[in-house]
Amino acid sequence: MSPTHEAGWAHVEGALRGPGWLRPPADANPLVASLWSSTTHKVDGNLVVGGVSLPDLVANVNTPAYVLDEADLRARARAFRDAFAGYDVYYAGKAFLCTTVARWIAEEGLSLDVCSDGELTVALRAGFDPARIGYHGNTKTEVELMRAVAEGVGRIVVDSFDEIARLERVTASLGRPARVMVRVTAGVEAHTHEYIATAHEDQKFGFSITAGDALEAVRRVVAVPGLELLGLHSHIGSQIFDTSGFEVAARRVLALHAQVGEEVGVTMPELDLGGGFGIAYTTQDDPSDPAQLAIEITKIVEHECRALGIGQPRLSIEPGRAIVGPAMCTVYTVGTVKRVELDGGAARTYVSVDGGMSDNIRTALYDADYSCTIASRNSEAPPTLARVVGKHCEAGDIVVKDEFLPGDVRPGDLLAVPATGAYCRSMASNYNHALRPPVVAVRDGVATTLIRRETVDDLLATDLGAHE
Ligand SMILES: *Cc1c(COP(=O)(O)O)cnc(C)c1O
Repeated sequence: MSPTHEAGWAHVEGALRGPGWLRPPADANPLVASLWSSTTHKVDGNLVVGGVSLPDLVANVNTPAYVLDEADLRARARAFRDAFAGYDVYYAGKAFLCTTVARWIAEEGLSLDVCSDGELTVALRAGFDPARIGYHGNTKTEVELMRAVAEGVGRIVVDSFDEIARLERVTASLGRPARVMVRVTAGVEAHTHEYIATAHEDQKFGFSITAGDALEAVRRVVAVPGLELLGLHSHIGSQIFDTSGFEVAARRVLALHAQVGEEVGVTMPELDLGGGFGIAYTTQDDPSDPAQLAIEITKIVEHECRALGIGQPRLSIEPGRAIVGPAMCTVYTVGTVKRVELDGGAARTYVSVDGGMSDNIRTALYDADYSCTIASRNSEAPPTLARVVGKHCEAGDIVVKDEFLPGDVRPGDLLAVPATGAYCRSMASNYNHALRPPVVAVRDGVATTLIRRETVDDLLATDLGAHE
């Protein structure tokens, strides 16, 4: 746990107050609208998404379940496409991908990023135009590169000298060219509300600009007949709330872009500024909308290009979380409620649900904050500070660290957690042989299962001893 989160905690007259940003509500029933997908509201305490009441949905598909608001996801995709008109907008499929969502992304006019053969397979199975697919990854195998080139993937973002050599062999052996971007590290580490600008980044992705690796990578790509250099690629981090980190990165990357023009004699047609646009998980978060981001990022790039005296490359961005994150919520059933006495006379209410770190690892992995609400009734009980935990054999198996819930929260209640669309189902595991939950799309009162719940047979399918 980070000290900044713990610092605001205090015991007040035996009651736990929680982190400083979390305000005790007078009434824990109403939704904080900014945290939920656009069609979400409550009717008599029942959460309704896409015109479907969650208690009704759960009666059919059980819990835990991810509920995807189709209209909301499409609107967010469209908002990026429209705000960033003149750019290419690549949806980062690693946030969440299935064939249906890949089709929606295509219908909304976006391109798609993948970073594994599995993600590429889903995209191609969905009929996604390979020319509009970008392929990422710091260690793509020869088999993966073969497939990507053979399928005609639109751009491969190279990340190491080994990969450039590998791609040379692949394109030569297939007799097919590949379009390439060079992933660079701009020395900007963006984290939520701050960024750190350094000369070097101590991480696995990209070629360092300052060490000269990025320029060398460009030279090597240019020297390979089968590779067409599209441009530079920079991705500075995730859950970023302002454009100051992008500004520093763009300045450094465009300086290299200009240097390539002068020293290598190649005018690269494109430039990718990556993704990482933040969303609201709790009331702490105040994300910019795509229109505002577009205005600021475009201004930064125009300004730098003018200062460098170069033409503006075609730009692309790669939002993942900002498109799918707010469009989904997870619904659980409360299994047990336990009041745990703490030192100093305070007590914490532990609310255990029927999922946990197997369907949302972000709290354990990133110390992420989430919010939640009871989705199946209203309550008159005064709010109490609760911690929502999962069913796994791990003390760190926390879903929501701190939230005020009605004090009479009890077994059988449905609990919904907003903003679980990104990096939850896509990072889900079978820990404790959990069955990964379904993803159910809702729209205009109709629920459609996009990914069904796993079954015990799915689990046993790979356990060869089970078939002896
Ligand atoms: C993860 C990733 C993204 C998407 O990040 P979000 O925070 O989901 O917007 C975009 N580009 C690259 C290269 C990434 O690795």
